[in-house]
Amino acid sequence: MPKRPRIAVLGFILESNRFAPPVKRPDFERVGYFEGSEILDEVRKPYPAIDESMTAFVKTMDESGDWEPVPVIFANGAAAGPCDHGFFLELMADMRKRLEAAGPLDGVYFCQHGAAITTEHHDPDGLMFQMARDVVGKDKPIVATLDLHANISERMVSATSLLVGYITNPHVDMWDRGVEAAKAIRELLAGVRYYPTFIRLPLVAPSVTQLTARGPYGDLINMGQARQKKENAIVNVTIMGGFAWADTPDNGLAIVVTSRGSAEPGHRLAKDLAKSGWADRERYQVKLTPIEDAVRMMKDLNRDKAKPPLLFADVADNPGGGARGNTTWILKAAFEAGVEDMAITPFYDEDLAAEAHKLGCGARFRARFNRAETNEFSKPFEAEAVVRNLSDGVIVGRRGTGAGTTMDLGPTATLQVGGIRVVVITNRTQALDYGYFESFGVPVDQMRSLVVKSRGHFRAGFDHLFTPDRVIEVDCPGLVSPILSRYPWKGLPRPVYPIDPNAKWEAAD
Ligand SMILES: [Zn+2]
Repeated sequence: MPKRPRIAVLGFILESNRFAPPVKRPDFERVGYFEGSEILDEVRKPYPAIDESMTAFVKTMDESGDWEPVPVIFANGAAAGPCDHGFFLELMADMRKRLEAAGPLDGVYFCQHGAAITTEHHDPDGLMFQMARDVVGKDKPIVATLDLHANISERMVSATSLLVGYITNPHVDMWDRGVEAAKAIRELLAGVRYYPTFIRLPLVAPSVTQLTARGPYGDLINMGQARQKKENAIVNVTIMGGFAWADTPDNGLAIVVTSRGSAEPGHRLAKDLAKSGWADRERYQVKLTPIEDAVRMMKDLNRDKAKPPLLFADVADNPGGGARGNTTWILKAAFEAGVEDMAITPFYDEDLAAEAHKLGCGARFRARFNRAETNEFSKPFEAEAVVRNLSDGVIVGRRGTGAGTTMDLGPTATLQVGGIRVVVITNRTQALDYGYFESFGVPVDQMRSLVVKSRGHFRAGFDHLFTPDRVIEVDCPGLVSPILSRYPWKGLPRPVYPIDPNAKWEAAD
């Protein structure tokens, strides 16, 4: 075992929606692009604007013995479209150059999302892991943490020593997974051998069916965790719900079980999990609330003050899945119906936020939503508005997935449109907690209806205010509707459940 192991830390975070516009370097720089020592500088701030798994990995390594971190590059593009292929090659070449220049390395930690595609390749995450494997050689530990929405390729498994996927959705265990990755690196450095077993099911689970507090996916995760607790030979159970809209041949619910000492215990558990997950497939069907019904509920809340308020999720326009966060279906329908004491957050419209900042607080003007957007979902909407609140948009998350991290929404303006307040932001992002209203002047406790642009992470940021039965998933058109039959899929392996109800799978030996 090396006395002072030299461990490279790097990462590439991108969840690619094939139907969203491609992203390049400036898009990553806007979310978070760190080179060399900048990674460690960020991690050591009180509220780092960097992935929590990275922070947890570095801190756990610091606390668990001597080591020399070799910070490389951490590029965060959040959820967006495919990565421009030219930029991806540039980024990977830069990473390779830095890894080679670092001299002999004892291991590598990747803080990765794991559902990226480029404009020309469906497995950039696998290519990046393979690049690192080529540089450090076949016996050195490479450990990667992954988002629960990762799509797993054979290359990602074979190029690494261990994949550690989140086990919560909403994701509130990024910290724990970073700690786990660091402990695994220590164990691998001590000479223990890991054996992964990988099984992929022809099951593309719609986003809203992948919650872990309940439902078929939660049950499967719990089964894996319970078995891991009982079996000492199991190092890790990673079950990835995956991200449908990356639209690749590697899509499908992925089970990666890693065992120590021998492959057998991992094999057995992976197979049991796959069988159980497949037997449960009919539970991965989606039922959303039609928009007409949602607006009726909002009107009803205005009439009947005794009823507790409701939280509506515009799940198909979730920026956390690469959507633009600017569709106007709910805003328009609620405005036309005269809904009051309602608020929407966040609405992504740079031009509108800038105009409101120029006009100033209290100004009345004709607000033109989506004057520059042209895709089929981002329709224009115009109405008289009053500027109620202006902010630089930098907040610290207080609850749920973003708690304790700095989030930069860019210049933000809260507009009053009829009885509706709309929080207009500059940096596209999903609603993660109640601060997305409160920090921008919306009194959450006085609202009858709240609308969030988010698929599910908001749940962990509002769970003190709304029980699950007070959360309504609304069916609107958008780039990430969980009704998967609506998309012109090109890459998905077919047949695949539930898009193809007759999809088949059998456990191989
Ligand atoms: Zn995710």
